[in-house]
Amino acid sequence: ENPARVRDTAIFDLIAQEGERQRVGLELIASENFTSAAVREAQGSVLTNKYAEGYPGKRWYGGCEVVDQVEQLAIDRVKELFGAAWANVQPHSGSSANLAVYNALIEPGSTVLGMDLSHGGHLTHGNPVNFSGLRYQIVGYKVSPDTERLDMDEVRRLAHEHQPKMIIAGASAYSRHIDFAAFREIADEVGAILFADIAHIAGLVAAGEHPNALPHAHVVASTTHKTLRGPRGGIILSNDTELGAKIDRAVFPGYQGGPLEHVIAGKAVAFGEALQPEFKAYAKQVIKNAQALAAAFEARGYRVVSGGTDNHLLVLDLRAQGLNGTKATRRLDGNSITISKSTLPYDTEKIMHGGGIRLGTPAVTTRGMVEADMDTIAGLIDRALKEEDVKAEVHAFAGGFRLP
Ligand code: PLP
Repeated sequence: ENPARVRDTAIFDLIAQEGERQRVGLELIASENFTSAAVREAQGSVLTNKYAEGYPGKRWYGGCEVVDQVEQLAIDRVKELFGAAWANVQPHSGSSANLAVYNALIEPGSTVLGMDLSHGGHLTHGNPVNFSGLRYQIVGYKVSPDTERLDMDEVRRLAHEHQPKMIIAGASAYSRHIDFAAFREIADEVGAILFADIAHIAGLVAAGEHPNALPHAHVVASTTHKTLRGPRGGIILSNDTELGAKIDRAVFPGYQGGPLEHVIAGKAVAFGEALQPEFKAYAKQVIKNAQALAAAFEARGYRVVSGGTDNHLLVLDLRAQGLNGTKATRRLDGNSITISKSTLPYDTEKIMHGGGIRLGTPAVTTRGMVEADMDTIAGLIDRALKEEDVKAEVHAFAGGFRLP
């Protein structure tokens, strides 16, 4: 018996409860996934004991000869995965990766063009209470009201009108391909830096199932814990090593002290997994499942934003059902189905509720679910939204699939 487990039953009982919640529930939060046992073992290792301020070969502490190799492996693997010339694997999260990019590349007060948050952009792309919105002049581009897809003519118009120093391409709730080449063309026209935030789609990009941002963007940042299926954390990539050196300084000593070498080890394991052919098959299935889920909802009379999906997520408009995001989340949570509420493009609901929900297939696909299971899931969600109690059915269904 692990002595820590004997001494601290309060926490270890809660961890066991969380494990059970994950086992019997349907995890459809688009930004979540189930890591492998190897990723968790690396993250729960003795590497957490080690201070290593600096970078491999250039540390402020002694005894870094092993963690240097860990971090270098993570860097080499992620460069191979995305075809990058330079990588930093130290950011503690996606938001802190983004903070380093802003700090390294533009001055406070600069104009930044990013995706409007209510149309799918992330908090760090200009929310007024986030550092991004507080410190920079944010201009938001919206999706087209007709197609609910990015309108590159509109992005171009706004870029020429506002002359941003940086353009952000990337989103948290957008289900269509992002045309990074078109973004770069526009950035070049106005002399802006193109920053691609691929946090949501990184696993699909790594598997070649979404166009890669790297040949086009000056800098790319991502989380490691969503479709990429690693531990919670961030990475930054570039093909420009001079830009990379600036960003290295912005991460450390810019705003972080010691890197989390145990998490970096987990990232290295996940990058190694993502380089395997099985991961490509996984990413393909994630997309097939999202498309099957979208079709299963349409067959039940629901409206899917933009009429479908090219990636791992979809957004459902629930206004015709007399629901909003808050009400739907409550009904589904009560049935062990976890999703996130979402605003819709040109939403008529209050922002705090949102007119719909966002669903993603990365986690259920890791459990081995396929297209036919998506129809079952849509059926369970439909009934739960109509206030039927489906909890026991959800537990029996989800519990039948393996967890890593
Ligand atoms: N960027 C995008 C596009 C995201 O969707 C997210 C996470 O939701 C982040 C950045 C931030 O990641 P984290 O939650 O690790 O700070």
